[in-house]
Amino acid sequence: MTNSSKTKLVDPWNRTIDYLRIAVTDRCNLRCFYCMPAEGINYLPKKELLTYEEIVRLSTVFASLGIKKIRLTGGEPFLRKNFISLLEKLKAIPGIEAVHITTNGVLTFPFLNEMKNIGVDGVNLSLDSLNRENFHQITRRDEFDTVMKTLDGLLDHGFNTKINMVVMHGKNTHEVLDMARLASARKVSVRFIEEMPFNGSELSTSKQNWSHVKILEELQAAFPNLNKLESHPSNPATLYQVPDHLGNLGIIPAYSRTFCGSCNRIRLTATGSIKNCLYDEGVLDVKQVLRSGKSDEELRDILISTVHKREKDGFAAEKNRKVDKNISESMSTIGG
Ligand code: SAM
Ligand code: SF4
Repeated sequence: MTNSSKTKLVDPWNRTIDYLRIAVTDRCNLRCFYCMPAEGINYLPKKELLTYEEIVRLSTVFASLGIKKIRLTGGEPFLRKNFISLLEKLKAIPGIEAVHITTNGVLTFPFLNEMKNIGVDGVNLSLDSLNRENFHQITRRDEFDTVMKTLDGLLDHGFNTKINMVVMHGKNTHEVLDMARLASARKVSVRFIEEMPFNGSELSTSKQNWSHVKILEELQAAFPNLNKLESHPSNPATLYQVPDHLGNLGIIPAYSRTFCGSCNRIRLTATGSIKNCLYDEGVLDVKQVLRSGKSDEELRDILISTVHKREKDGFAAEKNRKVDKNISESMSTIGG
């Protein structure tokens, strides 16, 4: 093994992993129907979550292996106590160039100043509807106004802001164009995401109806001069822009999985498991490793060999699932 392959996470398909997504909790204050059932999921006992010390240690070891970007997600990350202190600690890790957050925006607004001071590099806000009633139907909670206030606050503070809209047949597909128009006068990236079967209960049946192809057709019909933008190869979103619009649009083929060839990410779930792919069932119980007294050097070797087991794409990862062929985890545990 060469020196550089010892200090980098490179998978068998020669993809370098430099992006770590961390689900800091599986708890949530919304009940988005595509993510979890109305009654919620069985939350993990708190002691089963990694402590902040464990997350920072793991992230530091990951950074020594070439991870440059971290995204904190959940569940709803702002439900975790002293979440801001974790942001600060992760920002201070040598080698970590960017810390991003994905949030539902319900508890976020009061923390915007602190987030700005800490230097949070970007925020993805989940917003599936611009209509209060419909937002309530989808999320099963009446928090539309709070989330819109967070959106305004993010833009006022100058955060690099992306909106995530999961496109769901018959639920919000009539709002795709209104959502796209949000990017006309605001410097925001509105991203349309194919629905995936991670709803904590039965498989979704709607995913086939609104593929990335159909989303693009819808946008092109409304905006005939839509331009395709250059984007980083590891960006799962294909980006577009309507001339003269301040923001841009993205389409993420999360179910069609056309972007796997350049995937650069690895995930830490709320259960303390490493996922090489969103569609695998967890390939390493890293919580157990962290709690077993292993040294950083040993942890580093374990992480490297975990990445060596990475499958070629999301279809291969899904096929390999042993426990649950019908994927029914909640995205709230996986972290999206
Ligand atoms: N609670 C935060 C939020 O909603 O932004 C962070 C966690 S959430 C699991 C992360 C992202 O996953 C959100 O943008 C959400 O819309 C997306 N997501 C959840 N379930 C999904 C599903 N079944 N298909 C596609 N995206 C999903
Ligand atoms: Fe909560 Fe986010 Fe899942 Fe909605 S998508 S239930 S906000 S974790």
